[in-house]
Amino acid sequence: MKYVFGPVPSRRLGVSLGINNIPKKYCTYSCVYCQVGKTTNLTVNRRPFFKPEDVLRDVLLAIRGFKKEIDYVTFVPDGEPTLDINLGKIIKMIKENVKNKVAIITNGSIIKSAFSDLAEADLVSVKVDAVVDEIYRKVNRPHPSLSLTAVLRDIEEFRKSYGGILITETMLLEGLNDGPENLSKTVEFLRRVSPRDAYLSVPVRPPAEPSVRPSRRIFEWYESFIESGINTKVLDYQEEDSFATAGFEDPIEGLLKIMAVHPLREDYVCKILMERHIHPDKAINDLIERGAVRRVEYNGKVYLTLADSGYAPKS
Ligand code: SF4
Repeated sequence: MKYVFGPVPSRRLGVSLGINNIPKKYCTYSCVYCQVGKTTNLTVNRRPFFKPEDVLRDVLLAIRGFKKEIDYVTFVPDGEPTLDINLGKIIKMIKENVKNKVAIITNGSIIKSAFSDLAEADLVSVKVDAVVDEIYRKVNRPHPSLSLTAVLRDIEEFRKSYGGILITETMLLEGLNDGPENLSKTVEFLRRVSPRDAYLSVPVRPPAEPSVRPSRRIFEWYESFIESGINTKVLDYQEEDSFATAGFEDPIEGLLKIMAVHPLREDYVCKILMERHIHPDKAINDLIERGAVRRVEYNGKVYLTLADSGYAPKS
């Protein structure tokens, strides 16, 4: 299956079947903390990428092959999902065929041009890392044509018209966006947007830029959000549940699909391989030797990522 991965345990959505509707690293941003690596195709032009029928076929195969309940079918690709001009069409096709709810994880930067596509989804998660222009440019490194003022205005507009669940996610990075000015302005903005939940998180997997560190002020932010009446959740932990590769006949293929979207801790990979009766050390060494994956160290833990993902290798 080319266009789906998982199901994976999602920190926001429960059991989530991921849809990858964008080729690797087509994005409107090149966030310093991106777990997919550096953006190689920085663009704001919406266009068709893959055939909607092919994406739907993979979604149906994965749902039918997975024996447990899937909470959300989630567009969480290797880039920005709203760049796909067929996004709304694919969501409609999924909803015509299965009962699962549909979620979109977007950075919100071109939300205005995707209003009608996003309206088809049950849940939309929008990124709000910075509401100060200088910080926005350092953290999200947007396409030069994007204006933060317009992005924030369009997210507020979307909020007014959208009938589904809107949540936000703010990634906090030490010394970059966790200071008092960004905090007070983010609180002001989120009070106006009033998401059902505002998630605060820190990078838990290797970031695109190895110098990026998780903020230690996340609970300060949490307290300010709560005091301002924002419904807030903190996501500063690593998933502990095992990832599912049940939708894939070949579990190695399933793992590589997940790694295309985010690095996996090596101990999780070993656990999954053993569950599928595959010798983990041999399988991992084979993948490393043939140049498919490599090891990366972050925060004292060893991860496996695709070899061409743009992370600094573990020394
Ligand atoms: S984190 Fe998301 S928005 Fe940022 S560069 Fe990566 S894919 Fe794009």
